[in-house]
Amino acid sequence: MTANLLDFDLEGLAAFCERLGEKRFRATQLFRWIHQKGATDFDQMSDLAKSLREKLKGTACLVALPVMSRHDSADGTIKWLFDVGGGNAVETVFIPEDDRGTLCISSQAGCAVGCRFCSTGHQGFSRNLSTGEIIYQLWFAEHSLRQHMGTQERVISNVVMMGMGEPLQNYSALVPALRVMLDDHGYGLSRRRVTVSTSGVVPMMDRLGEDCPVALAVSLHAPNDALRDDLVPLNRKYPLAELLGACDRYLAHAPRDFITLEYCMLDGVNDQSEQARELVAMVRGHGHRGLSCKINLIPFNPFPVSGLKRSSPANVADFARILQDAGIVTTVRKTRGDDIDAACGQLAGDVVDRTRVAERIARQRSTGLSGIRVVAKEA
Ligand code: SAH
Ligand code: SF4
Repeated sequence: MTANLLDFDLEGLAAFCERLGEKRFRATQLFRWIHQKGATDFDQMSDLAKSLREKLKGTACLVALPVMSRHDSADGTIKWLFDVGGGNAVETVFIPEDDRGTLCISSQAGCAVGCRFCSTGHQGFSRNLSTGEIIYQLWFAEHSLRQHMGTQERVISNVVMMGMGEPLQNYSALVPALRVMLDDHGYGLSRRRVTVSTSGVVPMMDRLGEDCPVALAVSLHAPNDALRDDLVPLNRKYPLAELLGACDRYLAHAPRDFITLEYCMLDGVNDQSEQARELVAMVRGHGHRGLSCKINLIPFNPFPVSGLKRSSPANVADFARILQDAGIVTTVRKTRGDDIDAACGQLAGDVVDRTRVAERIARQRSTGLSGIRVVAKEA
């Protein structure tokens, strides 16, 4: 069996090197070649002995995901659609800003949570991505953007696990991927620049706090259980009191002293002043001193079958003011890339034209990353 080197965090790669009869520190060199330099050929890895390079050629590869499409938004946002086989596709979005470059990564093909306002949720669940498939999105974006911009400098400064899927329902693949992002020999991102967004998988929030406490965003969307049960079905399993309790516990490990609560603004559904006051009471009333949080209001990005509408800017502003007046730090998310359907919750990737995919894959196989054996997955 050929190992996909993108599946390993540094610890896993060290174990792999040991199995090849090599010293563990070789893994650090190999890891740096792959993630820091974006090497695509074992023969490029000049500080590795020829014998090791030969061994690697026989036992290891780097599995690429074929790019099905790339869309560039007028605002600089770039969206890639990757083929993950079996008629499934996932999306990755790069969002450039003045002081940062954020990559929004997918964790699953589809999603089992089924939130009413989310196009991925409407698609249903197909499968978990592997660690290698999660990391490939970062590897590919970082190194192709560098090449594109003609720079050796780091392009991606922040990662948000806010693409398709519920990251905490793919925990075992997620954590090694986060470790690669954080590792100084990998992407060297600080824990506060990597954000996991969750719809509220309470037990896994606790585990993440123990295993790999990166920044946490919790998708709240409602100020009471009745409404949240309807919008985020997972709430029936982990209701608000439990969710807020998990947020509190996470704070003991979090890289920042607050949790971000995301709230998608749906016209006439969850955007009324009364609901803003209910939200204030809920957050303030939690525990002894209330929950330490910031609230991020996300204007709903409509998609055809949702039957929901975006709140008016006036309603969003009123809602935000009520929270701010109560002393809760509140921001309204700028919508980026909506001209290419790259905005939150518009990541669909459902209609896969198989002929087109097959052609693309054939082309990528022949032009694929040189040297390292790239195994393109079948559509
Ligand atoms: N499953 C995770 C992460 C992916 S969704 C989660 O739910 O948190 C990332 C963010 O996009 C979440 O806050 C989600 O609520 C939001 N979102 C989903 N659909 C949206 C839509 N149509 N418009 C605006 N935001 C949306
Ligand atoms: Fe899944 Fe998040 Fe979409 Fe809900 S919002 S369906 S949890 S991806």
